[in-house]
Amino acid sequence: MLKTTENVNDVWDGVRAQLKDEMSSVAFDTWIKPVVPVELNEVKIKLRVPGGLQKGSLGKSMIMSKYRSLIESSLKNVTGRTVDLDVCFEETGAGATGDPITFEGMLNSKYTFENFVVGNNNNLAHAASLAVAESPGHKYNPLFIYGGSGLGKTHLLHAIGNYYLTNNPGKKVLYTTSEKFTYELINAIREKTNQEFRNRHRTVDLLLLDDVQFLASRVTAQEEFFHTFNALYESGKQIVLTSDRLPSETPHLEDRLKTRFQMGLLADLQPPEFETRVAILKSKVENEYFTFDEEIMEYVANNVTSNVRDLEGALKRILAYAGIERTNTISMELAQKALKEIISTLPQRNITTAVIIDEVEKYYHLPKGSLITKKRSNDIAYPRHIAMYISRVILDASYSKIGEDFRRDHSTVMNAVKKMKKLVTENPELQASIDELVTNIKRD
Ligand code: ADP
Ligand code: MG
Repeated sequence: MLKTTENVNDVWDGVRAQLKDEMSSVAFDTWIKPVVPVELNEVKIKLRVPGGLQKGSLGKSMIMSKYRSLIESSLKNVTGRTVDLDVCFEETGAGATGDPITFEGMLNSKYTFENFVVGNNNNLAHAASLAVAESPGHKYNPLFIYGGSGLGKTHLLHAIGNYYLTNNPGKKVLYTTSEKFTYELINAIREKTNQEFRNRHRTVDLLLLDDVQFLASRVTAQEEFFHTFNALYESGKQIVLTSDRLPSETPHLEDRLKTRFQMGLLADLQPPEFETRVAILKSKVENEYFTFDEEIMEYVANNVTSNVRDLEGALKRILAYAGIERTNTISMELAQKALKEIISTLPQRNITTAVIIDEVEKYYHLPKGSLITKKRSNDIAYPRHIAMYISRVILDASYSKIGEDFRRDHSTVMNAVKKMKKLVTENPELQASIDELVTNIKRD
């Protein structure tokens, strides 16, 4: 009998209270908290997951595949009868309002879902990451997370690995970058340890590959990764990839890899909006012994808009200044002083070709000094040309001075700069990389 006092909201509150004790707080906040109870009758409860098509369907499928029996048994406890679950979501609209905002010692334990701040800019990527961490290999395989630098790709990869290993100790998780994959592959070929290399990459339960864009244009590494991917995929193992762009927009990425990368879910990370930037800043100072006024957080959030890494950098600067001034109360004056330099567009660092070479090497993950070696292979020559071009553009140095610094003659530099100038106008992605490099170079 349906109790006359029974109300769908009260029943759902009761269920939520029970689920809260039985689930991790991140899983609860992501999957259960946003759910809206719609109606209840003798045999069925209808729930709605907000968040539009992508997030809503993800929420629905997680609830139905992973939490259904838990929810139904709580429903039984609360109502005293068997109640079936029916979940729906809206197919249109972002509808994200009210959405709630986690092998081998290679995982960084500081990156978790708990300390990842969720906003409109990243909520799909976050929810999809948590879904694969909870049920790897089941749904979104591969999960492909893409977005600009400093927006949380690496953070999410480690969070997936950490979460999965905490719940499944003893499983094999491998976090690697495409740089490391390539480098180890080349070594394995040289040392004839291909079999070991293969075993290591093809026998894991979860493979996390960071910055897959760097695999493009590397023929051998792409070939090997194609087989690694297939071996894992066919045995139902989860693969998560990150990149700074979509597979379809990655030049020199083989078509067969593009196809595979698009088979699962593509989830983007966008720069955080103002409210999320404030929320991130708040979460980052939570454990610091400093008092910040809301006004100061807003000042930082208003002025540092590019990405989360830069937000963290701004905060570190403020804390460093506070340290120097031996205070733990951050005044607006102090914050302004600390950020004056990074906010102004003027280069603060004493920029030299050495600084440029250093930043370009870092950006392309090349060993220090490689740009000034005699090597002419494309993986070195291309970044070298970029570094020459940047030296010419921002230092306005003469070709012969640049030549001297790069240990090349002046006509080589001139040709390189000319070539880059043309490439830059044809290729907006190259322009974007150069802009990013220039920002890195100007930042101290
Ligand atoms: P990417 O790999 O996309 O370049 P990272 O994952 O390295 O970016 O993120 C840069 C920094 O910003 C890291 O310290 C990371 O913890 C932090 N970060 C990024 N997104 C968030 C977020 N949503 N909440 C909290 N910290 C974040
Ligand atoms: Mg990264």
